[in-house]
Amino acid sequence: MRDVLTWGEAAPPDGTMGVPGARGRFGAYGGRYAPESLVEACREVGEAFREAWADPGFRGALARLLAVHAGRPTPLTPALRLSDELGVRLCLKREDLTHTGSHKINNVLGQALLAVRMGRRRLIAETGAGQHGVATATAAALLGLEATVFMGERDIERQALNVFRMRMLGAEVIPVTSGSRTLKDATSEAMRAWVGATGDSHYCIGSVVGPDPYPWMVREFQRVIGDEARAQCAAELRTGVPDHVVACVGGGSNAAGTFAGFADTAARLVGVEAEGGAGAARGRLGVLHGCRSLFLQDGDGQITQAHSIAPGLDYPGVGPEHAHLRDLGRARYVTVTDDEAVAAAVRLARTEGILPALESAHALAWVIRAAGDGELPAGSTVLMTLSGRGDKDVSTLKELL
Ligand SMILES: *Cc1c(COP(=O)(O)O)cnc(C)c1O
Repeated sequence: MRDVLTWGEAAPPDGTMGVPGARGRFGAYGGRYAPESLVEACREVGEAFREAWADPGFRGALARLLAVHAGRPTPLTPALRLSDELGVRLCLKREDLTHTGSHKINNVLGQALLAVRMGRRRLIAETGAGQHGVATATAAALLGLEATVFMGERDIERQALNVFRMRMLGAEVIPVTSGSRTLKDATSEAMRAWVGATGDSHYCIGSVVGPDPYPWMVREFQRVIGDEARAQCAAELRTGVPDHVVACVGGGSNAAGTFAGFADTAARLVGVEAEGGAGAARGRLGVLHGCRSLFLQDGDGQITQAHSIAPGLDYPGVGPEHAHLRDLGRARYVTVTDDEAVAAAVRLARTEGILPALESAHALAWVIRAAGDGELPAGSTVLMTLSGRGDKDVSTLKELL
């Protein structure tokens, strides 16, 4: 088992999922496409992160916060009844059991600790459904920082409970009225707010997207998922490493963190996207929110709106490293429909007593489909990251079922 203080230090032999290349590139993707003042701010964040990540004091402080506040390590649960039904051996990495109910807390605690180290007093964040906003507000409260969260007006209406949660935690929630009044516009607005406040504020991005160093930094903060799972699989599975490693992909942070723990093994990596948000599977090269990656676009190259029943998968693009892993053939990206995800959520609830987030249910839906059509041969071992719990989705499910 790798020591907590050496997470992520070794670049895998094939060169994937290590430190990105010059100017924050993952192959043809990534980079830093931002106004001059933000380029400088990103450079500072990158430098501070590089230093902090090499500092055992920082690593130790983060590991302790993750343990005593967020509830790590999370268990690896063998899904015994469902495995029997499917004819495969499925293990679930339980990010749903973390404080605040999803993997987002791993990244946010890392960035909040970095903000403190950089002498910042405020976190700026964007949020779609509110999950990342709640996690940011939580970390800010814990570390005595202020939090300003930008959220589209439409999302504020749809996610009233999370808005209330953020305000309870002391965060300021700012409605965004431009464009489609959803996540894409909230992100643009948050970046704009950071331009005027780089001296005292840290911009806390919620996935492996945005300008360098965010895709790399967020993956490193999430690789605790993959590193823990690697050690747990070694103990749980006769084969040591699972045949397949599966995770859902919105921007791609829980998948990147999971994949990072297995990039140097023979495990097949599978990212599962929503049919209506399939940036990696169906996107085209473009630039959005500071980075070059794959985005859903119309004939004129305009970025189009994503649609998914799972709010966390409702992003029109994918992080640059996933685009690169796709090109390399190191990871494969597949899609699942809303209906398949809902059916998978119900099935997990009834076979294992776990109600997953609809995002995570996408990953499971692919496992179910692949076990059925023989893509996962009988007896295969599968590690799947269960990125979050389903409590947030009960009203959506209640309308459907
Ligand atoms: C936000 C979210 C996701 C999608 O984000 P990634 O960056 O792709 O991991 C997936 N699952 C849950 C539960 C989420 O809250």
